[in-house]
Amino acid sequence: MTGRVLVVNCGSSSLKYRLVDVAAGEALAWGLAERIGQPEGRLTHARAGAEPDVAEQPLPDHEAALTAALAAFDRTGPALADAGLVAVAHRVVHGGDRFSAPVLVDDDVLRAVRELAALAPLHNPVNAVGIDVARRAFPDLPHVAVFDTAFHATLPAAASTYAVPREWAREHGVRRYGFHGTSHAFVSRGAAELLGRPLEETNTVVLHLGNGASATAVAGGRSVDTSMGMTPLEGLVMGTRSGDVDPALGAHLHRVAGLGPVEVDRALNGAGGMLALAGTNDLREVHRRIADGDDAAVLALDVFCHRVRRYVGAFMAVLGRTDAIAFTGGIGENDAVVRARSLAGLEPLGVRLDDERNAVRAGGARRVSADGSPVAVLVVPTDEELEMARQTVALLAR
Ligand code: ADP
Repeated sequence: MTGRVLVVNCGSSSLKYRLVDVAAGEALAWGLAERIGQPEGRLTHARAGAEPDVAEQPLPDHEAALTAALAAFDRTGPALADAGLVAVAHRVVHGGDRFSAPVLVDDDVLRAVRELAALAPLHNPVNAVGIDVARRAFPDLPHVAVFDTAFHATLPAAASTYAVPREWAREHGVRRYGFHGTSHAFVSRGAAELLGRPLEETNTVVLHLGNGASATAVAGGRSVDTSMGMTPLEGLVMGTRSGDVDPALGAHLHRVAGLGPVEVDRALNGAGGMLALAGTNDLREVHRRIADGDDAAVLALDVFCHRVRRYVGAFMAVLGRTDAIAFTGGIGENDAVVRARSLAGLEPLGVRLDDERNAVRAGGARRVSADGSPVAVLVVPTDEELEMARQTVALLAR
């Protein structure tokens, strides 16, 4: 697979991009536009091997952000006109029931992405804006939408179905979809490679622990269960999301505190998780507070690791035989304490960490379990942009 792909990832107030050389598996340049729509915007642009170029400038909307990014390519390089671009890949959070694989964007696809905003109101509208703006900037290139939900299209009905009135599912799309699919696909393949086993014969529990966090049971390369549900709120404790709570909590808070559904939803998504428990969503800061004797931070980390452990156990049961547990994401890749605490005491289930290997700070994919541990414990750094670029080139080659 060869070609260079510009990968675009629009968030609510940010735009990340990366110019990826698929054959080399490398980024030639990357950038981040932050605080879009706020008075003080910032664009950071870097070409491989050079110091990042940081420009403080107002970025009133995503169009302005992408225009600024393209200007940074012109100013700092590499020149996009000569970069051999074959496509632009766009991250889209929700593909609903319609998209189970990457697709070439046309007007109809763009309309569908917008319509799926009913299921992902925070994400799909800005994803659609990014596609729209980039199509106008690169009218002659193919644009490909890569969906966060697509990898989970293989979920069996037993795992994707909520036990709720059937018409909710039929008429309103109420079911479990799962997210972070690009990362779970990349990491489950990386885990099989590290073990030297065929992907089709490898069962892995993938733990993507970043600001957003999710666990997936991957059997022979297929997602068979995942912790996020109809939206990215379900499952693990996250930076600002609660993860699993009793679904009765909304009605309870309405009765006792007069809170409305929108307020509860907003709090569970934006004011829950580590932010609610520890006062910060940054795990590094949580560790600093623990070192300073902060009891709230101690409890927050306990809750976080307990929830990870619960999903590890559940997904080992779903898989039946587990070959590997693979950690990824900012926390999964860097936080040895979280890895150790989440798996402590699981030796009877065949999970034996090697404390020294686990403590080593390293960049690449690596094994952190003890030799002879029946379940290998791995750290596999995720690369969602490379995976998106690969899937894009694969789609174009078909
Ligand atoms: P996102 O979901 O926004 O992509 P990341 O995958 O970058 O997030 O993960 C962000 C989380 O990773 C933060 O909680 C941050 O504290 C944590 N993190 C990043 N680097 C480290 C580190 N060296 N040690 C512990 N935690 C880290």
